[in-house]
Amino acid sequence: MNQTIAYRINDNLYLNITDRCTLACKFCPKTQGIKRVHDFDLTLEQRPEIESIIESIGNPREYDSIVFCGFGEPTLRLKVLLTVARHIKKERGKVRINTDGLANLFHKRNVLPDFEGLVDALSVSLNGQNETIYNQHCQPALKGSFNAVLDFLRLAPRYVPEVTASAIHGLEGLDIEACSALAKQLGVGFRQRNLDVVG
Ligand code: SF4
Repeated sequence: MNQTIAYRINDNLYLNITDRCTLACKFCPKTQGIKRVHDFDLTLEQRPEIESIIESIGNPREYDSIVFCGFGEPTLRLKVLLTVARHIKKERGKVRINTDGLANLFHKRNVLPDFEGLVDALSVSLNGQNETIYNQHCQPALKGSFNAVLDFLRLAPRYVPEVTASAIHGLEGLDIEACSALAKQLGVGFRQRNLDVVG
């Protein structure tokens, strides 16, 4: 089976380890039935095994970062993610996770200590300055998702050196300045993103 597990954009290598999410973000191409990023078709016929993911990375030092991203929430496959991250760190690569910040809510425990020493950076989607705007754009399946993202962001810097919240510019009702202020209040960095730009 020929499916895209790893794809390079600029100097980073992105890993597509699952197509599952508990969100159904309205702005996500997947929600709109599009499974492509740049020239890469990210359709997964089956979720890749650890060995295939490691094989698809090659030498992690050839990239600025290896980024768990894809068209799904990577922390839903926590054991797989941690095993691959351990391999990347052993090979002296840098690990980033692009996440919805709902891992603690989903797994019903604080998973952040598992990241310590394995994850260099977290980029957490915070697409809403309040619960109403967040729910409008992200359509969470799990109750309490917005507050869970805030708790996750508040705790994350204890375990991960670089933590950034991000929000997409131009979403209806989304106040970038307010999102940035919220991130600051939570003690993390902030990055404004543009629609359809992976990073
Ligand atoms: S969390 Fe990410 S992959 Fe999942 S629906 Fe939202 S934008 Fe798409």
